[in-house]
Amino acid sequence: MNENVFQSSSLLLSIWRDINAACFNSELHEPVIGWIDLSDEEEGSEPYGMYVPRAGSIGISARFRSTVEAEEKALSEHADTVGPSKIDKAKSMPQSPAVELVYRLVMHETAHQASHQLGGISGGHGEPFLAQARRISQAMNLPEPTLKDLDQWPTVTPFVVQLMREGKLE
Ligand SMILES: [Zn+2]
Repeated sequence: MNENVFQSSSLLLSIWRDINAACFNSELHEPVIGWIDLSDEEEGSEPYGMYVPRAGSIGISARFRSTVEAEEKALSEHADTVGPSKIDKAKSMPQSPAVELVYRLVMHETAHQASHQLGGISGGHGEPFLAQARRISQAMNLPEPTLKDLDQWPTVTPFVVQLMREGKLE
């Protein structure tokens, strides 16, 4: 990844750690994870996330960065100090629309990482990816995916889709 378009993020790392703990007993190798500018991709085909196996890195589209950081800041300012752990919060999504969306994008890329680390296959949305997507879905109390909806797994709530259409998550 180009340094100019990739910025590592402690917020994304903490989300990844939640998922690794909740779904994989913290057994996945910690990736380099951050925001990546993918806006130069062809219109309409811009990916929201990517996993690069050789670099051991996960990138999440920088288009969501400012909204997510603002919502996370608001959440942490109002957080109850004796409230549920981060993992419990992750299991009771949504916390906020943008944070929910980014959790789900990190879940998708973490399933690619797990397919690579645990099964030796990183790309595509076939059976190895399905096995990891099911494992994450079970641990996070999400509906289990099937092979045909893996491209979009894990789907976001209609509320989030509406905000994306309205451009409010950019
Ligand atoms: Zn994918």
